Amino acid sequence: MRNEFTKNLLEWNRDLNNRLMPWKGESDPYRIWLSEIILQQTRVEQGTRYYEKFIALFPTVKALAEAPEKEVFKNWEGLGYYSRCRNLIATARKIAWNYGSIFPAAYDELLALPGIGPYTAAAIASFAFSLPYAVVDGNVERVLSRYFGISTPVGSAAGKKMYKEISGELLDKKNPGVYNQAIMDFGATICKPLNPLCSHCVMSKDCQAFQLGRTNQLPVKAAAPLRKKRCFYYFIADSGKNEIWIRERAGKDIWQNLYEFILYETGKLVPKETLQKTNFFRENFGDKGIRISHISPVYKQTLTHQSISGCFVYLDKALHHLSGYQPVSRDQLINYPFPKFITGYMKDFPSLR
Ligand code: SF4
Repeated sequence: MRNEFTKNLLEWNRDLNNRLMPWKGESDPYRIWLSEIILQQTRVEQGTRYYEKFIALFPTVKALAEAPEKEVFKNWEGLGYYSRCRNLIATARKIAWNYGSIFPAAYDELLALPGIGPYTAAAIASFAFSLPYAVVDGNVERVLSRYFGISTPVGSAAGKKMYKEISGELLDKKNPGVYNQAIMDFGATICKPLNPLCSHCVMSKDCQAFQLGRTNQLPVKAAAPLRKKRCFYYFIADSGKNEIWIRERAGKDIWQNLYEFILYETGKLVPKETLQKTNFFRENFGDKGIRISHISPVYKQTLTHQSISGCFVYLDKALHHLSGYQPVSRDQLINYPFPKFITGYMKDFPSLR
């Protein structure tokens, strides 16, 4: 059955797979790496736009390594998951400075680079260097779970181990890149999460989920992690010279290296009057005779381990000084990388009024 799987998959790939993507068939490790990092938690259509933009702006790993961080973050804006961008910069610099701008051709060395996990290392190793490492991601796990009728939850420790082992056995060791691309494409276009195309599927004869009517029950998912709830009040304050106070986020927290307005974080949303009575408000604004003029509706963003809600708050007078923040002209704000939570608001209210 395992031999049949690989044979049928490769035949399907040769005869029927017509999925096109700009990086498909690519053997340049820099381009493969870039596309894989951009595509993590990103739809292909959106990822394609960013991939093409990054290749045009930073055509080589050296160009990316030498680019100012602010420029890279600015061009990443909208993709989210900014730790990916931080790791992208760190890895580009490591390859440029430690490896003379040449990607290492060994799986373990790839895996040791920032932001490169087993999936990306296997993709680069197999596509660029024809090394026998199988990719395993949600697409692959879904296909294998259905075909072999595996109920072990994906995402669990036992599931991860099992899917890795099976993937390694199924891999066509002579053509690992072709096999890996084929199973990715098969999962994305045929054995889709919802409404898989079973009636057109070359695997249906041996597929356990199809034969037993279990396609909707597989794969079994591990319980979702509990998300920490955080509430951000962003004060949009003018310096008195048509400038807004912003700062770069530092410390080990979400959105590191991105910019933000004056932040007050609370455990929950509070009414305007309560907000004005907080120590934070009194010490930064209230003692200067400043009050809240209005507050935006609530904005929300869900991250992998956190759910953020918050509002944008306007003050009725200029704020002439604020330690830790810098005044930036309203026209120049567009040049700073902000998290999606803030750019979403700026799109709704471009003039920040
Ligand atoms: S028959 Fe359906 S569930 Fe089974 S591998 Fe094909 S598309 Fe997936």
